[in-house]
Amino acid sequence: MSLIIGDNVVVSIHYTLTDSSGEVLDSSEGSDPLNYLHGAGNIIPGLERALVGKAVGSNLEVVVAPEDGYGEVHEDLLQEVPMAAFQGVDDIEPGMAFEAQDQEGNARRVVVRSVSDDTVVVDANHPLAGVELNFAVEVVDIRDASEEEIAHGHVH
Ligand code: ZN
Repeated sequence: MSLIIGDNVVVSIHYTLTDSSGEVLDSSEGSDPLNYLHGAGNIIPGLERALVGKAVGSNLEVVVAPEDGYGEVHEDLLQEVPMAAFQGVDDIEPGMAFEAQDQEGNARRVVVRSVSDDTVVVDANHPLAGVELNFAVEVVDIRDASEEEIAHGHVH
């Protein structure tokens, strides 16, 4: 019996992700397929939902709105910090990425949005927040997950 995609199967997909202007943001082309445990939230919700019921050999194009992808842009994740916090960095320019620590001490990637004489505005939103995502996906393999994989919530 051939498997279709549903909870507790391990799925291998090749995918190409483009934004609405057609620019390629990410792709598995030329490397191993992405393996994920279906139903465990390993991939973004909009893509996981579109894969339900598909079989090996299925090709699909999925448009994922921000709320089913990496979320909307949250203005409260923009923060103005003093230039002094960037001691040792010579030229701070918009677009530069830094690792910062949030209040709980977790590492968080922030991107410089704007720079003035004594302050820098950094953005802790996910780089794909607010972006409509277009996936071209091919299902290349499906297998039953092991009990251990199901218990852990990820592929081994
Ligand atoms: Zn594990």
